[in-house]
Amino acid sequence: MTDPALPRDEYAFNPHADTCPMHEATVIASVVDAVLTELKKYNVKKVHTVTLTIGDLTQLGTEQMEFAYEVLTKDTVLEGSKLAVEPEHIVLSCKRCGYKGPARTIDFGDSTEHNIPVLSCPQCGGEVEVVAGQACCVKNMDIETGDD
Ligand SMILES: [Zn+2]
Repeated sequence: MTDPALPRDEYAFNPHADTCPMHEATVIASVVDAVLTELKKYNVKKVHTVTLTIGDLTQLGTEQMEFAYEVLTKDTVLEGSKLAVEPEHIVLSCKRCGYKGPARTIDFGDSTEHNIPVLSCPQCGGEVEVVAGQACCVKNMDIETGDD
């Protein structure tokens, strides 16, 4: 059995999926920390874009993350750079019928931003394994280096 939460690269973070309203700021703080540490290895002139892959299951709001990023990168080499968020959609794999695909969601029909995903098979109701949708990592950094 594979662990779906296994980090895929060295910049992976544990998002601690909870309902704290400042959740995005907490995640972005560790992202900014890790990126700044990584950037010390290079002679960085300017950072253009930091791209994150964020799984739907993390329930992180893009706008909140962009706001937190802007605040937390102030007076760092990352100030003025852009935070790009690439969503990773949920993919489930059913152990019983072999279904592989998106999760069914509970739609509350109001203005809430996120529907709640159901982590059981939409076809047979069986137990599923989460194949994708839990990512929370830095995918790419677009930086400019210089010698002066
Ligand atoms: Zn199934």
